Amino acid sequence: PRKIAILTSGGDAPGMNACVRAVVRYGISKGCAMYAVYEGYQGLVDGGNQIRLMDWKSVRGWMRVGGTSIGTARCKPFQTSEGRLKAAENLIKEGIDSIIVCGGDGSLTGADVFRSEWPSHVENLKKNDRITTEQAEQHKHLTIVGLVGSIDNDMSSTDITIGAVTSLHRICEAVDSINTTAMSHSRAFVVEVMGRHCGWLALMAGIATGADFVFIPERPPGEEDWRPRLCDVAQRHRQMGKRKTIIIVAEGALDTSLKPIKSEEIKDILTERLGIDTRVTTLGHVQRGGSPCASDRILATIQSVEAVRAVLTSKPDTPSPLIISRNNQITSTSLMKAVELTHEVAKAIGEKKFARAMELRDPQFAE
Ligand code: ADP
Repeated sequence: PRKIAILTSGGDAPGMNACVRAVVRYGISKGCAMYAVYEGYQGLVDGGNQIRLMDWKSVRGWMRVGGTSIGTARCKPFQTSEGRLKAAENLIKEGIDSIIVCGGDGSLTGADVFRSEWPSHVENLKKNDRITTEQAEQHKHLTIVGLVGSIDNDMSSTDITIGAVTSLHRICEAVDSINTTAMSHSRAFVVEVMGRHCGWLALMAGIATGADFVFIPERPPGEEDWRPRLCDVAQRHRQMGKRKTIIIVAEGALDTSLKPIKSEEIKDILTERLGIDTRVTTLGHVQRGGSPCASDRILATIQSVEAVRAVLTSKPDTPSPLIISRNNQITSTSLMKAVELTHEVAKAIGEKKFARAMELRDPQFAE
């Protein structure tokens, strides 16, 4: 039977377990032997007990569990050719020829690098008698299929990434809680949310909670000084009888000169210029936690089925696919193209091409 492995890598995201469950079970139903690599790429490099055969029962109950039960890690050795050679050896010795990687753009880049080097690793291992000629013959190609697990919704070419909606929901719940105390005391709250290069969580949370002002990296608050405008908006809303002010800031928020916009500064401005009692709340890792919402379970499950299908229909000479959602359809695109587009967003922001960054963010304009 085909031997297929799944691993989760990079920042954990709710729904990764639902991916592992669906990949394992759909693979088994298609007659494949399914493996889980524990601790992300570190498990590939370490081999041994970190690469485990899974059965139907191994993933029972995993749908509703947050994070990733097979572990994830940031792995330095996998960024070296030496480390990836060891990973290749471990896979070949287990007889595994395909990997489904669920992670962010870093993990997916690593996966593609690994695939592109594969023939040279096989050659090297054979030359040094670390694998047999027969093993080398059977493992000429490595199949890689990507699934995007990321709470930030920061991958180009897909409408939504696995974990983002759950995280957004957590943020909304937190802001709802903050709202009650803000209203009681007539306070302002500056709420800092995750998103280093991507303002999706901040922007959507702003809409979903009716925030007064949102700061995101892709769209700085105009050329002119944003401080008077912020005060103006907050004051206007207060004059309309609003007893609370909510400002949502993405952790990577920037002004037009690429200077970070800090929550503490916003707090000081509202306090000093408007005399509003203002507090900062950094939501931090609670945004990552907890059980995935229904839509992330569904997304993870149907994308994972598609990932196994993509493995089973893959050809040696086609580029690695990335499973994506576009206009409510599950489909696939070139993994490397999607990763490159994602890097282009960061590059456009770095070059102050903000309109271009927004365009690249929205897959409908990206191609
Ligand atoms: P994310 O997948 O969430 O973007 P990282 O960027 O931290 O997270 O990447 C996770 C892991 O993927 C890294 O620790 C490393 O092992 C691997 N990786 C990332 N980029 C590369 C690369 N260019 N080459 C090889 N491996 C990489």
